[in-house]
Amino acid sequence: MYPTDAPTNELQQSKCPVCGSQDFEWGRLQAYYVPGTSLWSAKGRQMVKARRCLRCNNLLQFTDTARTAQFNRIVIVIVAISLLISLSVVVLSF
Ligand SMILES: [Zn+2]
Repeated sequence: MYPTDAPTNELQQSKCPVCGSQDFEWGRLQAYYVPGTSLWSAKGRQMVKARRCLRCNNLLQFTDTARTAQFNRIVIVIVAISLLISLSVVVLSF
């Protein structure tokens, strides 16, 4: 279901910087990366995936461009449906 749980490039498969192991599992963080320092801007927001070392539990984080694009498409569909429902309610109330 989450095709990007697997590493998407070779650099993301390099050895653990703490213990040198190459045994990992992939997951995601319940967090976003937002470029810049503004508290209010969500522009450029990206989903985050993480690689856990199975030997020392070190976590390495990467932004996940594929899941970010997927998430943005879902948001657009939800906003469009919400607008349609709002419009329907307004039209039906007359
Ligand atoms: Zn390690």
